[in-house]
Amino acid sequence: MTYAAGRHFLQIPGPTNVPDSVLRAMSAATIDHRGPDFQALGTELLRDVRPVFGTTGPVVMYPATGTGAWEAALVNTLNPGETVLCFETGHFATLWQEMAGRLGLRVDLVPGDWRHGADPAVVAERLAADTGRRIAAVCVVHNETSTGVTSRVAEIRAAMDAADHPALLLVDTISSLGSMDYRHDEWGVDVTVAGSQKGLMLPPGMSFNAISAKALERSRTATMPRTFWDWGPMLAANERGFFPYTPNTNLMYGLKEALRLLHDEGLENVFARHTRHAEATRAAVRAWGLEVLALDEREYSSALTAVLVPDDVDADKVRAVILDRFDMSLGAGLGRLAGRIFRIGHLGAFNDLTLAGTLAGVQMGLGLAGVPVAGSGLDAALERLQTD
Ligand code: PLP
Repeated sequence: MTYAAGRHFLQIPGPTNVPDSVLRAMSAATIDHRGPDFQALGTELLRDVRPVFGTTGPVVMYPATGTGAWEAALVNTLNPGETVLCFETGHFATLWQEMAGRLGLRVDLVPGDWRHGADPAVVAERLAADTGRRIAAVCVVHNETSTGVTSRVAEIRAAMDAADHPALLLVDTISSLGSMDYRHDEWGVDVTVAGSQKGLMLPPGMSFNAISAKALERSRTATMPRTFWDWGPMLAANERGFFPYTPNTNLMYGLKEALRLLHDEGLENVFARHTRHAEATRAAVRAWGLEVLALDEREYSSALTAVLVPDDVDADKVRAVILDRFDMSLGAGLGRLAGRIFRIGHLGAFNDLTLAGTLAGVQMGLGLAGVPVAGSGLDAALERLQTD
């Protein structure tokens, strides 16, 4: 890598910027993962991570990325050939349902336009029509990282309850956990899937399943083949603060520090900070005369904003100019949105001036790339930031 003065702006919607204190914590020597010091660390983390999920139940941690935790959620709770109800809300929802299909599950996929979340009314409709109770699980991505659109998990749960349907609710919070309000217990989620590299401000490589009592019960009889992902040996070892195989000890040092940072700021304040930065970012997009991809304001993401560029503009060229001139990485359009959008990540270790710098870079980049803008998005965002 060639040297560039100053800090790189890593404004993709994850992996996010890792705070210095977390980096320092991870640089400690790796210890015996079967020894007493590790046991104390494991016991503490398995307890202290729970509030971030809004649960008092078990949370398992895998030395794997989020994709692994997706697989874990499916293989621990389902039987081969069972049906899962999925929503095509974007790139990641598409990948998750493809995984379900490859694992031998039947996928009932509700098509989507990648600008809306999973519709609770459609959940209600599909479950009411499922008189034979074939649907074993409903899979929802809380925050679609490819689109900046959220799904209203509490309303989806309410629709499931109203239909009195026994399906499990499996929710991907990979890009919302630790950035946006999320309540595993209160919202009646059965498995919450999460990853380390976004709101938790860690490098990639650790992922999580928060598990409801109902999901745990199902896992005792579920017959999908599983070894590495099996909750059984994991939970048994976790009882004593240990793992059934070698955990990623140094990421766990980082997690301890990241949890300290989150709890020190207070989760409510963390969520409010993200909401405010998202509002300021949307103000900027509108002042530029560009379009926020999310169409329903109830579904705006606080973690990232996807910006639609005019038809004759290649969003990847804009990103390339910004990377080259300002050393800032923005998220690319994925799948069917390739070249049509760029994504501004405003999650994790992020403050007003990081946002101001980010939006200044975008504004200058739009100018250099020859994209006509209606006005100063940066000024609109600064105005929003000054109001509270
Ligand atoms: N789900 C969502 C919402 C994501 O944003 C990502 C990655 O960005 C994944 C799943 C896949 O996780 P990973 O890349 O950590 O395997």
